[in-house]
Amino acid sequence: MQALVYHGPGRKAWETVPKPIVEHDTDAVVKVDTVTICGTDLHILKGDVAAVTDGRILGHEAVGTVETVGSGVKNVKVGDRVLVSCITACGACRYCREGSYGQCIGGGGWILGHKIDGTQAEYVRVPFADTSTYAVPEGVTDEEVLMLADIGPTGYEVGVLNGRVRPGDVVAVVGAGPVGLSAIMGAKLFSPAHVVAIDLADARLEAAKQFGADITVNPSREDAVAIVRDLTQGLGADVAIEAVGVAPTFEQCAALVRPGGTVANVGVHGGPATLHLEELWIKNVTITTGLVDTYSTPTLLRLLATHHIDLARFVTHRFAMGEFIDAYDTFARAADTGALKVVLTS
Ligand code: NAD
Ligand code: ZN
Repeated sequence: MQALVYHGPGRKAWETVPKPIVEHDTDAVVKVDTVTICGTDLHILKGDVAAVTDGRILGHEAVGTVETVGSGVKNVKVGDRVLVSCITACGACRYCREGSYGQCIGGGGWILGHKIDGTQAEYVRVPFADTSTYAVPEGVTDEEVLMLADIGPTGYEVGVLNGRVRPGDVVAVVGAGPVGLSAIMGAKLFSPAHVVAIDLADARLEAAKQFGADITVNPSREDAVAIVRDLTQGLGADVAIEAVGVAPTFEQCAALVRPGGTVANVGVHGGPATLHLEELWIKNVTITTGLVDTYSTPTLLRLLATHHIDLARFVTHRFAMGEFIDAYDTFARAADTGALKVVLTS
């Protein structure tokens, strides 16, 4: 089969590799029908994620058709249309039993496109298929469901739920890429008073308005902290969500948050950021961070199937399966191309 293979920082190729097979009785092999690219894949390609080594097939998001299942798979059968979760979960370890699938110690966690071969391929082996795939509901498209492989639960769980967004809150979201937009969409479910989107790219700020931000700030021209303070009688945001993954935006979130508020870090940071612990301590700021667990995927699938969230609007560019070089280029140059999610379909 053909797959997108990582060959060290900045190097990737669509090349011929062996087709995956069922290796354990809890595996499924899924034919990839629709696949997309994540901001984390861009971090990997820069060399920020040391665990990803030469020869790894990239990608951790897909919707596909089950081709083969191991003898121990009960919930999924050949021919089923499934969402492949970015987090693989054994379903039985201490963490999985608490819904902390990202921390699975039974062989799961974030492994696809990271520690084992991923989804940017014609076929993918999905370990623990019973807990790592979700049936696609009737009446929704593969593209919509694909947005729940990673970005939907990430913005919702790691941004909105960790940030404890409540009705009437002022929520600042730094970074309006697909993950930040998911956080905006998720925050809107809780009727915030204001959602302030902060991004250096005007195209992304336009998208943020479509997703429900009522104030947009480009920090290359405006002072985000001053704007949020004006809005909040000088206090700051109840919740500041970091959805970029660089030190300055984490530090900006610490400046944006009000005393007693929460900074919810979502970004994957390739290096350390500064924590002014005395300032954060005296302000009683709660800081949360973490890898997505995808425990909210069933909730988000229900919200999608009942038209409470609109995921189709994430998809801005479409390619045929295999056109990864152009698709990555379009996604990486989002400020110029206006890309949110690029989708490749077989
Ligand atoms: P993306 O690259 O598409 O979006 C990032 C956005 O940040 C862009 O719109 C960019 O213009 C903006 N930006 C860059 N520098 C900025 C700055 N100084 N100030 C304001 N805005 C700035 O990425 P994405 O797919 O939306 O992902 C966002 C982050 O979330 C990434 O770090 C990604 O790795 C991470 N992520 C985390 C998890 C998790 O489990 N916690 C899961 C998936 C993705
Ligand atoms: Zn991702």
